[in-house]
Order: sequence, then structure tokens, then C-alpha cells
Amino acid sequence: MTAVAIDGPAGAGKSTIARRAAREIGFIYVDTGALYRAVGLFMLQQGVDASDARAVTPLLRRVQLTLTFQNGEQKVILCGEDVSGAIRTAEVSMAASNVSAIPAVRDFLFSLQKDIARNNDVVMDGRDIGTVVLPDAQVKIFLTASPEERARRRYEQMIKKGERVDYDDVLSDLKTRDYNDSHRAVAPLVPAAAAVIVDTTGNTLEQSVKQLVAIIKENLQYHK
Ligand code: C5P
Repeated sequence: MTAVAIDGPAGAGKSTIARRAAREIGFIYVDTGALYRAVGLFMLQQGVDASDARAVTPLLRRVQLTLTFQNGEQKVILCGEDVSGAIRTAEVSMAASNVSAIPAVRDFLFSLQKDIARNNDVVMDGRDIGTVVLPDAQVKIFLTASPEERARRRYEQMIKKGERVDYDDVLSDLKTRDYNDSHRAVAPLVPAAAAVIVDTTGNTLEQSVKQLVAIIKENLQYHK
């Protein structure tokens, strides 16, 4: 099977850009952040501190997590319930960032991600896909943008959804998550050695999708 690994910080536009690029090349799009979010949501539901490894680790046994794909759209099923919408809150974002620093959580989600890539041609997005999960991916891309631009995009998305948020809060949450993600001991957010670095600051969505598809096609050609 063929894999395209797309990593980068929160709000770089990874999911939107990767989803569109996947559709253009006929691969399924896998958003691995959704898995960390589902684990984060589970811990919130259980009332445990998502950053407490000793509390979180034993509960993982009870986390039943599957991804399903309908018309290329990923759905996250947590213990039989579709939580695709419920995992998109600011509270769950922070819980996801917290649980993602726990080695047992990363191990738990590792095999799930591997299995999907074993059975499908994938565009997989996350933080450690090119470095840890799919080190043999044929194409590796590190997608980034300035923190202010990423916060602005996230802010606009949330406002569009009718959420009441403050830009400064979005920016400071994003900086905290950036810091957590790039400083954790296991699988920190760093570009893979062979990754093509794409900075989308100032790009329109169309420009970024076009650029990404061009890079993917060029690299897949090279790997044939
Ligand atoms: O991409 P998204 O913002 O939905 O990811 C939520 C959180 O999950 C991130 O802040 C990061 O801490 C964690 N994550 C991770 N490794 C991945 C994907 C996400 O640690 N492959």
C-alpha cells in the first residue's frame, strides 16, 4: 500500500488540506488527531485528569475505538457511539494534547494507525506519522504556518460554527499545545528527516491544496 504522511502543528490547515489532497489522488484520509481527541474525551467523561499517566493508563483497557470511512469521510466511534462532533471542543483539544504525552496512550493508538495504513492507501495526518507511525511512507510532508495565522484560521472556523471564543485565548491555547507537542519525551513534533517542509502562511486554501498535490504526485512518481 502507499502512504503519504502529513505532520505539523495545530491549526496549520493539515486536516482540510490533507482531506482535499487525498480525494484528488483517490486515497483515504486519516486524521489521527481524532484518535487522541477520542481518548481525551473518554478521560474527561471518566472524570480523570488527562495529564495523569497513572490514572489514564489503566483506563485504556476500556477504550473501544474504531474509525469508519463513509464516502471518504472519517467517523470516530468511541465505545459504540459516534463522537466525531463531540471531540471538536476546546476542552477536548487540551485533553488530547495532555493524553498524547503519555507513552501508553501512544502505544495504544500506534497499532490502530498501523492497521489502517496496512490495508489502505492513505493520506495520514498527525504529529509523528512520518517519524514514528509510518517511517516508510513514500511521501512525507511537514505542514506549518505562523502561530498568529494558525490561530486566526482556528478562530474563524470556531466563529463560523457559532462558538463564542476570544482570539487571544485561541492563540494562547495553540501556543501551549505547540509547546506540549514539541517538548514531550515521546514522539515530539519534529519534521521527519526526509520531509518536504511547506509553510502555508499567506496562502489561500486552494494554493495550499495545489502545492501539496503537486508535491505528492512528484514524489509518488519518483517512488514508482
Ligand atoms: O490534530 P489535532 O489538533 O486534532 O490533534 C489533537 C492533539 O492530539 C494534538 O494537540 C496532539 O497533542 C495530539 N496528536 C499527537 N499525535 C498525532 C496526532 C495528534 O500527539 N499523530
